[in-house]
Amino acid sequence: MLNIALFGPPGCGKGTQSKMLVEKYGLTYISTGDLLRKEIAANTELGIKAKIIIDKGGLVGDDLVVKLIEKHVENNHAQGILFDGFPRTHVQCYILDGILADMKSSLTVMINLEVPENILMQRMLERSKISGRSDDNETVIKMRFKEYQEKTLPVVEFYQRQNKVHTINGVGTVEEIAQRIQNVIESI
Ligand code: AMP
Repeated sequence: MLNIALFGPPGCGKGTQSKMLVEKYGLTYISTGDLLRKEIAANTELGIKAKIIIDKGGLVGDDLVVKLIEKHVENNHAQGILFDGFPRTHVQCYILDGILADMKSSLTVMINLEVPENILMQRMLERSKISGRSDDNETVIKMRFKEYQEKTLPVVEFYQRQNKVHTINGVGTVEEIAQRIQNVIESI
């Protein structure tokens, strides 16, 4: 299995690059952000709890993320899985490793997209015009950056200890960045 975690700050292009990776390598796509937005749209108990946190720019609690994953992740992904926006905390690293161990597999690579904050802010404010996302406004974006620095960055250290992190410059055209990611995957 080719199991990839696409990692990086809010607005770094994870969603855009995921589409290319899923098609090219035939992977199952798991985006916890998309799954949470589905739960919100369906007005489930999980969705109602998550919305309060997402609208403030916080991270949804690990307990809810576990429930989300249990509900949506099946145990047959022949070619591999692409995780977008997960893991986002230290605890979630253990959850991910556990899920993959149950499949007699492990994480192949974590791709860390680096983009400066001023560019991220511009991109997300631009995206807000069409995304309709309630968390794409300046105040909430600043909170999302803070959560990323404090809770999510330690995830990189966790996988660096396993020698699985490849950091990529996330500034450029969609095609340029896609090529950088493919170069990494083909080198492992
Ligand atoms: P995203 O679509 O990945 O930018 O996620 C949007 C929002 O959903 C984030 O700002 C968090 O509030 C929440 N979220 C998504 N994935 C996770 C996760 N793995 N852990 C905690 N919160 C998450």
